[in-house]
Amino acid sequence: MTIRRLPETVINRIAAGEVVERPASAVKELVENSLDAGASHIEVALRDGGKSLIAVTDDGSGMTADDMSVAIERHATSKLTGDDLFDIHTMGFRGEALPSLGAVSRMTITSRPPDAESAWATQVEGGRVGEPAPAAHPPGTRVEIRDLFYATPARLKFLKSDRAETSQILDVVKRLAMARPDVAYSVHDGARERLRVSPANGDFLDSRLDRLGAIMGREFAENALRIEAERDGVRLDGYAGVPTLNRANAMQQFLFVNDRPVRDKLLFGAVRAAYMDFLARNRHPMVALFLEVDPRLVDINVHPAKAEVRFRDAGTVRGLIIGALKHALAEAGHRASTTVSAAALGAVRPVQQPLSARGGYGGGYQYRPVTPSRGLSEAAVAFQAPLDAPIAPSAMSDVAPVPQGVEEFPLGAARAQVHETYIVSQTDDGIVIVDQHAAHERLVYESMKRSLSETGVSRQALLIPEVVELGEAETARITARAEELAELGLVLEAFGEDAVLVREVPALLGQIDAKGLVRDLADELAAFGDAYSLKEKLEEVCGTMACHGSVRAGRRLNAEEMNALLREMEATPHSGQCNHGRPTYVELKLADIERLFGRR
Ligand code: ADP
Ligand code: MG
Repeated sequence: MTIRRLPETVINRIAAGEVVERPASAVKELVENSLDAGASHIEVALRDGGKSLIAVTDDGSGMTADDMSVAIERHATSKLTGDDLFDIHTMGFRGEALPSLGAVSRMTITSRPPDAESAWATQVEGGRVGEPAPAAHPPGTRVEIRDLFYATPARLKFLKSDRAETSQILDVVKRLAMARPDVAYSVHDGARERLRVSPANGDFLDSRLDRLGAIMGREFAENALRIEAERDGVRLDGYAGVPTLNRANAMQQFLFVNDRPVRDKLLFGAVRAAYMDFLARNRHPMVALFLEVDPRLVDINVHPAKAEVRFRDAGTVRGLIIGALKHALAEAGHRASTTVSAAALGAVRPVQQPLSARGGYGGGYQYRPVTPSRGLSEAAVAFQAPLDAPIAPSAMSDVAPVPQGVEEFPLGAARAQVHETYIVSQTDDGIVIVDQHAAHERLVYESMKRSLSETGVSRQALLIPEVVELGEAETARITARAEELAELGLVLEAFGEDAVLVREVPALLGQIDAKGLVRDLADELAAFGDAYSLKEKLEEVCGTMACHGSVRAGRRLNAEEMNALLREMEATPHSGQCNHGRPTYVELKLADIERLFGRR
């Protein structure tokens, strides 16, 4: 056995594996270097998703020829002045980016300090360092990375399409742009400009909100609440969207620690907790929060790409975020309105037992597969048919006739629909209130699961195919899943770069809001990532589909339709809860009602 020390190039390639995972990580390192150099303008140019070219140009402090030679050595940094890893005020400090990038690409650094007469350029190719040579360049630095990973073909194979890599790069630059509104950024992908934000001036808070609006959308800037709090030396600042401004995933939730964009589960958990009373569980608010922490109280050195952080006191930070968000939401007057008195709530309880275990339906009652004649698809399509006669508003409290013997059914006979959302039915010994939307969602889910294992979900062609405009990334994401979606009854294809054409939809959804459905599915796919098949995520997908199907809240139902829905629920497994764990119905026993009125 021979033990030998690894040559420097190999060591750098190994390090590159950690620091530079893909073009977006290279861009992140280079732009962070420009920020550390005090740049006020940063330009990013790409070709082929960054695979053949990444060039970052800044107007920062620049480097002399000597500086440059040192900068490309491993663990060489100008930023860690002492040896204290807990006293970090710059984006970089590990001195790894430049040598790592030089090891796996053809890199040219051209730089000139403001007071120097001319610029110098140094090339590094697959780790081999060339001689610095004079060059023409204005003050500042330009780092050009050509043929990233040419020296490590294995890594090259793992890269995604140009479009996917470009969108990751844009994500990285946008986050850095949110962190530093005082800096101008631009990204050009070779074909066109993908991002341009000018330095915001004036009041810092205004400029921050301006920048957030430029990146997250005008809608956010106009519907955001100011967040401000401080506890035990931790300062929280930022903006949070009002609850009605919500998304199907948490990708519009951003956290910055000392101006460094981080992805931290702590944020998502805290946001969920704070909005719990204001938002359905499958919807996500938009927030951008900025924490200022003594660098000694946070460890950013847990990950080579510095994407994760560890707080000395995570509990304080979590509490601070939840408290500040809740406070702002309450101030904004979005209190959850409780319409039912506490006493009534105590009596109204979700039904715990399965329907089959309860009396009233004959001893041997079992969940049975839905017979096609009573299939959900029919029922759902029927719900969608126009009503015979328009119902006057006063008819909301109409008492429906009771079909013969129907009260023996576990969910009873539908007697009324209130607020176009709840079905009130009468049972042997009480009343049942059904959330028609939640119930429908569960029925769609169960029916899809069943048809998938049997014949495939039946589809219904749209008379006029619908064009849904999406972003480029969303279009790519959703068309990549077209085959799987077709199995679930949704047939669509790409329509240019940034739109899809919807041709067929699942029949059991009835008339459908194709636009809303496709948008939400695109959001959802982004949240799943590529790791999951849609079947594995069937619950979420069905929930999303059912959400845009016909029997949503607000749809007026007649007695026949209501009873059909109740019977369908009785015949469907797990129909007591919707896919998000909320009950689909609650039962109020006569005895409970009597207790409410003090009769017992
Ligand atoms: P780190 O950022 O952790 O210090 P890097 O390998 O990214 O390590 O950079 C090494 C050094 O090169 C930096 O410490 C800095 O002195 C110098 N440098 C890198 N990029 C720039 C730039 N755009 N402008 C000026 N100096 C730079
Ligand atoms: Mg760096």
